[in-house]
Amino acid sequence: MKTTKTIQIETKSSSVIIGDDVFKVLSAFLKTYQDQKIFLLVDENTLEHCVPQLITEVEQLKNVEIIEIESGEENKVLEVCFQLWKTLSENNAERTSLLINLGGGVITDMGGFVASTFKRGIDFVNMPTTLLSQIDASVGGKVGVDFEGLKNMIGVFNEPQQVFINPNFLATLDKRQMLSGYAEALKHALIKDAVYWQKLKKGMLSDAKNWQGLISTSVQIKNNIVINDFKEQGERKLLNFGHTVGHAIETYSLLNDEKPLFHGEAVAIGMICEAFISTKDAKLSEKELKEITETLLNYYPKYKVENNQFHYYIELMKKDKKNEKGNINCTLLNQIGEGVVDNNVSVENIIDALNYYVSL
Ligand code: NAD
Repeated sequence: MKTTKTIQIETKSSSVIIGDDVFKVLSAFLKTYQDQKIFLLVDENTLEHCVPQLITEVEQLKNVEIIEIESGEENKVLEVCFQLWKTLSENNAERTSLLINLGGGVITDMGGFVASTFKRGIDFVNMPTTLLSQIDASVGGKVGVDFEGLKNMIGVFNEPQQVFINPNFLATLDKRQMLSGYAEALKHALIKDAVYWQKLKKGMLSDAKNWQGLISTSVQIKNNIVINDFKEQGERKLLNFGHTVGHAIETYSLLNDEKPLFHGEAVAIGMICEAFISTKDAKLSEKELKEITETLLNYYPKYKVENNQFHYYIELMKKDKKNEKGNINCTLLNQIGEGVVDNNVSVENIIDALNYYVSL
C-alpha cells in the first residue's frame, strides 16, 4: 500500500506524529529504550484490532509485556489504576521503564495518569486508536480518571514523550464512534477555522484518504490553542464550546438512558444550544445559526430532550467546574470560525436554547 507523508506537530514539550508510516518512527524512538522494560496497555478491542499490526511491524514489541483492561468509561477509575500500579510493580517496572498506551481516550487518559504517578513518573507514549482520542485526547497533557461518578476529577497535566497516530486504526472503529469524534472536529472548525468547517460540512469520514488531513488539522488547531494556555486560564476555554450544555445532557443520558449518548453526540446537541445562545449573547447571525443547526442535525439524530428535564440540566450546569463566581460560564461564537470565551449566560437564555432544540 502507498503510504502518505508523515506529519509531525510540535506540542509544548513533546510531539504528535501522524501517518500510516508511523510504526517506523516508533521503532526508531524505541531504540532509546532497548535496555528498558516496555509495557503495552490495551483493552480487549485494541488487543484484537490494533496489537497484531503493531507487534508485526515494530520488532522491539514482539515480546512486550501486555497489560489488558476491560474497555469502557466505567473502568476509568482509581480501582483500575490500583490494579495497574500493582501489575507494574509485580513486573518490576522501574523509573526508566516505558508504558505505551494503545487505545481510545479511556486508555490514554488512565495510562497517562498511571505512568505519571508510578514511582513519581515513568515515561509513556500514547497511540490513540479512536477518532476522538486521535483529534482531541492526543494533545493538551490532561491525564486522569473519573471519581465518584464525576468525569476527570482526579488527574494531572503531563504530556507523553510522544504521540503516534496511525489513521488506519480507524478502519475497525464503528460508525457511531467515528461520528462521536467528528463532533470535536466540527467544534474545532466552529471556534477557529471557517474553511475547515466548509470541508467538514461536506463530509470527510467516508473516504479513508481524508483521515490524515482531518486528524492533523484538528490536532493543529487544538495545539495552537493549548500551547498558549496549558492550564486553561484563557484561550483554552475556547475548546469548551458545546460542552456546558453538552456535559449536562451527557450526564443525564448516562444516568437515565438504556443506550446513553456518546460524548460527541451530546456535544453536538450542546453546540446547537450554545450557537442559539450565541445569537443573543455574542454576535452570531441567525443565518449562521441555521447553517450550524442543519449541519449538526444532518450528522446527529435528534435526541429526546423534554421540558421536565430542564431543571435537572440547569442544576448540572450550575455545578460545572468551568463556572466562575457562581455564574454559568459558556464559550460562544461571534461567527463560524470565531469563538469567544467567558460569557456569563442567564438561565433564561439556556432554557430558550433548550426550547429551540426541542422545536427543531
Ligand atoms: P474509549 O476509549 O472508551 O473507546 C471507545 C470504544 O472504542 C472502546 O470500546 C474501545 O475499546 C474501542 N476501540 C478503540 N480503538 C478501537 C479500534 N481501533 N477499533 C475498534 N474499536 C476500538 O472512548 P474514546 O471516545 O476514545 O475516549 C473517551 C474518553 O476520552 C473519555 O474518558 C474522555 O474523558 C477522554 N478524553 C480526554 C481528552 C483529553 O484531553 N485528555 C479529550 C477528549 C476525551
